[in-house]
Amino acid sequence: MDIILYIAIFSIGIVFGSFFTLAVYRIPRKEDITHVRSHCTSCNHRLEFWDLIPLFSYIFLGGKCRYCGEKIRPRYFLLEIFSGLVFLGLAFSRGLSIEMPLVGFIDLALTYLFVAGTFIIAGIDKENFEIPNGLILYELIVGIIYTIFLYATGEKILSNIIGFVAIPLILFIVDYILKKLLKDESKLPFGMGDIKYMAVIGLFVGFGAEILTIVIALLITGIVLAIQCGIRKIHMEQIPFGFYLSIAANIVLIAMPLIKNIIDCIEMIIL
Ligand SMILES: [Zn+2]
Repeated sequence: MDIILYIAIFSIGIVFGSFFTLAVYRIPRKEDITHVRSHCTSCNHRLEFWDLIPLFSYIFLGGKCRYCGEKIRPRYFLLEIFSGLVFLGLAFSRGLSIEMPLVGFIDLALTYLFVAGTFIIAGIDKENFEIPNGLILYELIVGIIYTIFLYATGEKILSNIIGFVAIPLILFIVDYILKKLLKDESKLPFGMGDIKYMAVIGLFVGFGAEILTIVIALLITGIVLAIQCGIRKIHMEQIPFGFYLSIAANIVLIAMPLIKNIIDCIEMIIL
């Protein structure tokens, strides 16, 4: 029975992924993400239902628009698969099964809602180097609901509150001091968008996991920069740190049940 549940979760993940690609394309362009029918971004032809089946349409159409033959960027296809895999990973790590108590289902559902935001933020930050405030607000609302849920089920929420307030405040102060010293805002380590994003991540995962997320994001950023500099000898350019924070947050969320002890340890050392 559980296998059906997991196939369903993977499918839901892919459908969500399909919506993420649409949101990533439309939100920065201030287009409606709920009503207007999808159209090919190259020839503007309205896309029919069968052009929009996640995964399958891309495979059967050979990665091209049916109407103008323009290549559809594989990035969208990959995002759909990744989304399905992340949904599956979260279900596995939390031991999803039919017999799971209701609390477990609610926990997982709220986690999916939060992860949805991280995917859209990742896509938009990667392409536009900005994290829209509307998405931060969305993550904040999901985070508040989740914290209330934790409190209602008897969990401690101190860690979530510290994650929301303290860590971003420290980073903000670091930024502020560096701004005074460097007298150049473009050289600051974190943008305001990144700090706000860290705050809502902290609210959802707690401050121990938040620190871990930031460390992983910095590591990935470092590795990517090293590779890029090695290959293209490029100059340091703008870094979509929100993109790396999203990846790190997803890794931490999936691994959460396994690394609970490490996270508790980080929190104990600091408090
Ligand atoms: Zn087209």
